[in-house]
Amino acid sequence: ATYDVTASPLEGVAAGGVVLSFTDISDLEQAGQIRRDFVANVSHELKTPLTALMGFIETLRGPARNDEAARDRFLDIMAREAERMNRLVSDLLSLSRVEAEERMRPGARVDVAALLRSAVQTLRPLAEEAGVALTLGGAEAEAHVLGDEDQLTQVFHNLIENGIKYGGSGGVLRLEMTRSERELAFRGPGLRIDVIDEGEGFDPVHIPRLTERFYRVDNHRSREMGGTGLGLAIVKHIVNRHRGRFRIDSAPGKGSTFSVTLPTV
Ligand code: ADP
Repeated sequence: ATYDVTASPLEGVAAGGVVLSFTDISDLEQAGQIRRDFVANVSHELKTPLTALMGFIETLRGPARNDEAARDRFLDIMAREAERMNRLVSDLLSLSRVEAEERMRPGARVDVAALLRSAVQTLRPLAEEAGVALTLGGAEAEAHVLGDEDQLTQVFHNLIENGIKYGGSGGVLRLEMTRSERELAFRGPGLRIDVIDEGEGFDPVHIPRLTERFYRVDNHRSREMGGTGLGLAIVKHIVNRHRGRFRIDSAPGKGSTFSVTLPTV
């Protein structure tokens, strides 16, 4: 089963196939609740690395003061925690930028084929490091959409990075671009980009919630991989702003496919 996750009317409300009824709560109260949950989540996500950093600073000032080996080890951990906070803040800034406007002004002509080639080139070393072979098909000729080049780059960076993180060592991560003259979703010519991995996949019940901020299939694993839990939320908003569609398909043990469809010009 493939799910279109682009247009979820109330983020965070319909959960895992369970439809909750809010007949007695106004939209305003719901929006307030979603905002409060978000602030609580952000605070928690920032507090975890911050607490670790403060703990290590105390240890370095006290017991580990003259222990050189321990100091190096702790500094490595501290650098990792600081990087995590840095990623989180960058993702939060990206998200707030793309959330501010649901529909963007036409923007510039962007060659998605060239953009994909350069994304693959940029991320190939990261893939190789993780033992993942990164391939790109169908992106030889130009293919233009109207939009924001930086934002579209971020979409494919996020999807490729996820494919590398969760794609499983020894696997292939395939990017496939296909054109269609009549894309049903917007009744005109379109471009579909599939990001297909051979990783662990997940139960499709998670799909409707994956684009929620901070929703993760496996919290521990995401953190271990340095994830912020915001990547797919950012993807969804950017695709929406480009009048595109974002679909997710996955099965446990069979890998996942993330598809972005954009109207071409
Ligand atoms: P994170 O920073 O945790 O990776 P994302 O918003 O990018 O956050 O993704 C949300 C969750 O979706 C991840 O925590 C992971 O559980 C799941 N996920 C995303 N991409 C994949 C993939 N290619 N294979 C398996 N699970 C994935």
